[in-house]
Amino acid sequence: MGHRPTGLFVEGQWRESDQRFTVTDKYLREPIAELAVAGPAQVDAAVGAARRAADDPLPPARRERILLDAAELLEERAAEIERTYVAETGFTLADARTESARAVGTLRLCAGEAVRVAGQEIPVSATPGSENRLAFTIRVPVGVVGAIAPFNAPLNTVAHKIGPALAAGNAVVLKPAEATPLCSIALVEALHDAGLPPGFLQLVCGPGETTGAALVADRRIRYFTFTGSSAVGLLVKQRSGIAKTHLELGANSASLVGADADLDLVAELVARAGFRKAGQVCTSVQRLLVHREVLDELTERLTARITALRVGDPRDPKTDVGPMIAPAEAQRAREWITEPGGGRVLCGGERDGALLSPALVAEPAPDSHLMCTEIFAPVVAVVPVESMDRAIELMNAGDYGLQAGIFTRDLDRAFDAARRLRVGGVMVNDTSSYHADAMPYGGVKDSGYGVEGPRYAVEDMTDPRIVVFNLRPPRS
Ligand code: NAD
Repeated sequence: MGHRPTGLFVEGQWRESDQRFTVTDKYLREPIAELAVAGPAQVDAAVGAARRAADDPLPPARRERILLDAAELLEERAAEIERTYVAETGFTLADARTESARAVGTLRLCAGEAVRVAGQEIPVSATPGSENRLAFTIRVPVGVVGAIAPFNAPLNTVAHKIGPALAAGNAVVLKPAEATPLCSIALVEALHDAGLPPGFLQLVCGPGETTGAALVADRRIRYFTFTGSSAVGLLVKQRSGIAKTHLELGANSASLVGADADLDLVAELVARAGFRKAGQVCTSVQRLLVHREVLDELTERLTARITALRVGDPRDPKTDVGPMIAPAEAQRAREWITEPGGGRVLCGGERDGALLSPALVAEPAPDSHLMCTEIFAPVVAVVPVESMDRAIELMNAGDYGLQAGIFTRDLDRAFDAARRLRVGGVMVNDTSSYHADAMPYGGVKDSGYGVEGPRYAVEDMTDPRIVVFNLRPPRS
């Protein structure tokens, strides 16, 4: 017990357990930390601590202050946190800077929401016979929130879970991905140093199948906020009993390119959105559905930009694309683009360990992995379409529905797509990957349900309690 971060944080203390796991540097492939695995007993203690804290919620202004101070600490510690981030994710320095700045902003947005939690008057007196009733809702924290995070946004996605949970007056047990738990330690330290009292935030690390499963089975948790793959999201939904769930899941996001699109803009944005974090982003451009009239021209511009991307050491400021999370993932992605029906590789796709050079692939078969499932790799497929109607049809035929982009100068076309695309968000003249932290963000279909974004998450992490007064005439 003590001050040294072990990965297991319960009731304001770093603790040990009898099992450990190793966190590696994803580029150097060397161990960088040994952390405590939270077994069933530790998960039980963490949830118990959260349950006790949740019985006595912090006042709103205190929550606001703590979140603001934690944001400031995160900002002060940014350089060190970004070094840790690059090591444990393999993402580039530029990715690290973007995400750490966004996490600071997310905590600040959450602080603002902490002092806006409010119910509303309900006009029950309009119901005949209820003229003397006065009714209003108050928003009550759900109690204990279980937060389960993926490896690919270990600062900002985690901030989007614990920030709103705390802002809403809850206590949290956080389970980061086993590949990238160190950023969560930095967030826990910032909140603890900002004065968050013991019990309001617990950290439990370890494999999803054991630590994560123990959390999901704990009926004291009333709300699960989960970001990860659709397969695990389904398990969380099935195993969490009657707890509320919010699922941010996978996608094979598409962006649509009309014949009237600004092709320079498309090429510039896709070369970034398809390959940042080595393509391991849920809204990453995986499929570019391009009007046949501009296919050749766009392919040429994209190839020029993509072959100019530098692959390698994520610590080198000149590197655009670092390694994937594991060599096996790079191998899987390479197999998907080289298998029969996987399409014609126009550039990239070479593997060296966990590095996969940014690939542009033409016309994968309609039933290929690349068209139907999530590749989560630095790969973009270009698919010709006869019309934007066909592009919308193709997009809607798939299993996922997170975000989509449409490039067109035609306003009517853009509105039509916004209405018809079955996704959580439509970006006009931008890729599927645009995301500002204040916006409602989430998917439909196999991409999940519920929306993230501090304002929406805080609302969801509270329950409305209706209070009705049966008013009598005052006794003289
Ligand atoms: P993953 O589903 O493998 O793991 C996510 C988390 O769930 C991890 O913390 C893991 O340990 C835990 N987990 C695994 N099995 C579990 C179980 N049985 N019970 C409880 N928890 C369990 O996902 P990943 O590989 O870390 O992340 C990549 C995935 O996340 C991709 O599919 C990506 O699209 C998705 N993602 C979605 C969004 C979004 O906003 N929709 C954002 C980022 C990532």
